[in-house]
Amino acid sequence: MAGNGSLTADTVRRWMAESAAAIAEQRDYLTQLDAAIGDADHGTNMARGFAAVEARLGELDGGTPPGQVLVAVGQTLVSTVGGASGPLWGTAMRRAGKSLADDETIPPSALGDALQAAVDGVIELGAAQPGDKTMVDALAPAVDAFRSAVAAGRPLVDAASDAESAAEDGMRSTVPMLARKGRASYLGERSIGHQDPGATSAAIIVAALVRAVASEP
Ligand code: ADP
Ligand code: MG
Repeated sequence: MAGNGSLTADTVRRWMAESAAAIAEQRDYLTQLDAAIGDADHGTNMARGFAAVEARLGELDGGTPPGQVLVAVGQTLVSTVGGASGPLWGTAMRRAGKSLADDETIPPSALGDALQAAVDGVIELGAAQPGDKTMVDALAPAVDAFRSAVAAGRPLVDAASDAESAAEDGMRSTVPMLARKGRASYLGERSIGHQDPGATSAAIIVAALVRAVASEP
């Protein structure tokens, strides 16, 4: 952090490293969730993608601004994750990155705008609305919670914590939902009673932001 509650490229890099570690750890769980209502590849898809992100960020110039780091993350996810979630996460990260332009330090309000751009990109590409049992059910409330906390003047780490709680609640809220998008929608009523894998990985990635922000040196 830049000392005034702003993020730097290092924060974003730590967010991605924390995400990669958590996704790798939860890979089998994510795949089990996808086995119940999809095709049992979500954990493998996401773990492959985030491993590639780590490799890519290792090669990226140390002076790359935060927005460009996220654009590189998005490009990597698009070309390595596959499935429905590859293009969706790729779009999310690229949109967030573009929203940050070439700024070196990112105030919390600008991060909120970038996260909103990410969710808007996912909804534009995937046409899922809240309640359709997708990653949107974790991401949209997380972004709302983050922006509300920032607007209320709360510190960055608290805003990220609020986002984490909202993402977790959103993830759990997918259990009783009927899937209306993606493979799970083919199951119709039989998708009810299962937690959405994409909402689960989304909550994992939001939780990783809290650790990245909290572990500022
Ligand atoms: P696939 O379904 O192609 O095998 P994954 O298993 O990697 O891809 O990802 C499945 C997840 O993608 C779902 O759990 C859901 O959260 C998300 N998803 C699928 N379709 C959409 C969509 N149209 N909009 C938003 N999220 C979606
Ligand atoms: Mg799948």
